[in-house]
Amino acid sequence: MADCGVTDARSLPTRTPPPPFRTVEVVSREELSPRMLRLVLGGKALHGLPSAGPAASVRLVVPWAGEGFEVPTWTGNEFLLSDGRRPALRTFTPVEFDADANQLTLDIVRHGGGAISDWAEAVDVGDAAAISGPGRGEVIDPDARRYILLGDETAIPAIRQMIKAIPAPIQIDTHVETVSPDARLELPVRAGLSVTWHDADPTAPPCSRIRDVVATLDVDASTRVWAAGEAAAVQAIRKYLFTERSVPRHHTSIRGYWKVPR
Ligand SMILES: Cc1cc2nc3c(=O)[nH]c(=O)nc-3n(C[C@H](O)[C@H](O)[C@H](O)COP(=O)(O)OP(=O)(O)OC[C@H]3O[C@@H](n4cnc5c(N)ncnc54)[C@H](O)[C@@H]3O)c2cc1C
Repeated sequence: MADCGVTDARSLPTRTPPPPFRTVEVVSREELSPRMLRLVLGGKALHGLPSAGPAASVRLVVPWAGEGFEVPTWTGNEFLLSDGRRPALRTFTPVEFDADANQLTLDIVRHGGGAISDWAEAVDVGDAAAISGPGRGEVIDPDARRYILLGDETAIPAIRQMIKAIPAPIQIDTHVETVSPDARLELPVRAGLSVTWHDADPTAPPCSRIRDVVATLDVDASTRVWAAGEAAAVQAIRKYLFTERSVPRHHTSIRGYWKVPR
């Protein structure tokens, strides 16, 4: 009988290997809000970590609850632990890399009940983890006259970077949905930037407020839309913009950051 938790790597096609893991340890842990933790991870292995522009990504691997840390191995198709199980490996936005100190900052949503979210909640300085990446970030379109940035709490680190990267005089309209008002975080301030925070409707699927907002927005040919959040919600936004509003695909960058299990 097949063991659903174990993958037989020999039966799978090989893929281009992602950047190797760099082992790090937790340097500090700070509560940015009741919904967000900031971790600084450091170590010599981070030396030379490339920068990848705004809203880039890194993979973070941590030990499963109650287990020791092990760097997973690339099998040709995916990373696996030595016993064949999948590691606790998720994607995060590299908030800041201090090349002199070899320290990388990540902001992690405290959603509860996730391998990384729970690890970050309980982590101690000195605990081990590993980082792979970065994956490429966004290229700002110099022809744009306006950017619309949409997202939930997981998108706040990327939105912060997008705001900093989009040059004036490009206008920026930002809409962020949070589970509660105390999850709102400071964003950069600049001329031509509007930021609207939306409280999530606890009776509706995640990012419903953001979906509602999109229907009210003017999206002309000089507007670019960047959105990230719960996968089904941002997929619906993508579909709406393409089919109902005839927005060209290359004027959008829309990414599912996490998934409600179906
Ligand atoms: C390019 C990219 C950049 C990202 N950047 C960030 C970032 O900077 N900060 C950040 O916190 N996240 C970020 N994410 C999202 C993050 O990878 C996911 O939220 C991830 O699932 C969290 O892992 P976990 O182990 O805590 O939860 P998992 O073990 O993956 O999930 C456990 C359960 O929690 C639910 N869940 C997962 N995330 C959330 C959430 N945010 N709110 C409510 N329920 C949730 C899942 O549906 C599942 O039911 C990013 C994702 C991508 C693809």
